[in-house]
Amino acid sequence: DPQLNRQYTFENFVEGDCNRLARSAGYAVAAKPGGTSFNPLMIYGGVGLGKTHLAQAIGNEIKRTLPDKLVLYVSCEKFTQQFVDALKHNNINDFVNFYQAIDVLIMDDVHNFAGKEKTQDFFFHIFNHLHQSGKQLIITSDKAPKDLAGLEERLLSRFKWGLSADLQVPDLETRMAILKNKTYQDGIELGDDVIEYVAHNIDNNVRELEGAMVSLLAQSTLNRKEIDLNLAKQMLKNFVKNSSKEISMEYIQNLVCEYFEVPIDMVKSQTRKREIVQARQISMYLAKAHTKSSLKSIGHFFGGRDHSTVIYACQTVEDLIDTDKKFKGYVADIQKKLKMS
Ligand code: ADP
Ligand code: MG
Repeated sequence: DPQLNRQYTFENFVEGDCNRLARSAGYAVAAKPGGTSFNPLMIYGGVGLGKTHLAQAIGNEIKRTLPDKLVLYVSCEKFTQQFVDALKHNNINDFVNFYQAIDVLIMDDVHNFAGKEKTQDFFFHIFNHLHQSGKQLIITSDKAPKDLAGLEERLLSRFKWGLSADLQVPDLETRMAILKNKTYQDGIELGDDVIEYVAHNIDNNVRELEGAMVSLLAQSTLNRKEIDLNLAKQMLKNFVKNSSKEISMEYIQNLVCEYFEVPIDMVKSQTRKREIVQARQISMYLAKAHTKSSLKSIGHFFGGRDHSTVIYACQTVEDLIDTDKKFKGYVADIQKKLKMS
């Protein structure tokens, strides 16, 4: 299965209070796909907390113990793209048949279905077919079903049928265990003081924790220095400066306006001039992608608009990125600047 990443196993998914329910539900599902009441199993939580890892671990475990089962991992984006392609090339039937034959469907990041009505509608039918045939569905999302804006009610109600389990930010002890596990996998030895120092200071999510470790190793290699507490302190100074700085909506607004040479205050105004609308929509899109702000507060910030306007803006930008090379280039440029900040 090219879609499943073999690195993501239960064995290296470190257990903690933050993930105990989700992990054990995942285990139960892997032992009896389609045969528990955890169908669908919905795993939700913030970015970098292990949703993809856990969902794939379930898939890998099923492949290992029940090799005859057809397991498919697909991200919501990829599914959407496949659906659009199938429509375009007139082979919806093949597409349907393919999905209906699957025993275990892992659909990653369903919050990305927001605003994509046709794709949602289509997924709804596949979901029903699989569920009725006793097939297992595993779904991940960045929010609990009740908080998923922009998804159709009937689809959300299906998501609530089984079990929803969340992944939370791991506590210090679990973060240390994750770091130990990671270094052990990579064959590196680190002092407990270094592990504790890093785990103590990087407390957003697991992805950043791993990023800090990678950065630490890189510095140790580059400077030909042993990894000790001093190096860890030095690394963290750079790491925090480079990656954890929060991007504000104001900053995005300024950057976009500067890029397109439009007056900053116009973005928040009611004007529908094409270039302003474009700057406004891109700003909203970037705010959604790069800040933790809710759709509601993004709409509010950009001129007191409501959350559906934000969803529409994001959709429009995504569509244009797909269809308009020049536009795609603009957005990529701005994003590059954003990351350099
Ligand atoms: P998400 O899909 O929620 O954004 P990922 O599944 O991509 O997050 O996880 C980010 C990184 O953190 C991955 O490299 C993953 O292996 C690692 N990770 C997350 N949770 C754990 C855990 N409990 N134990 C070990 N590694 C973890
Ligand atoms: Mg993921």
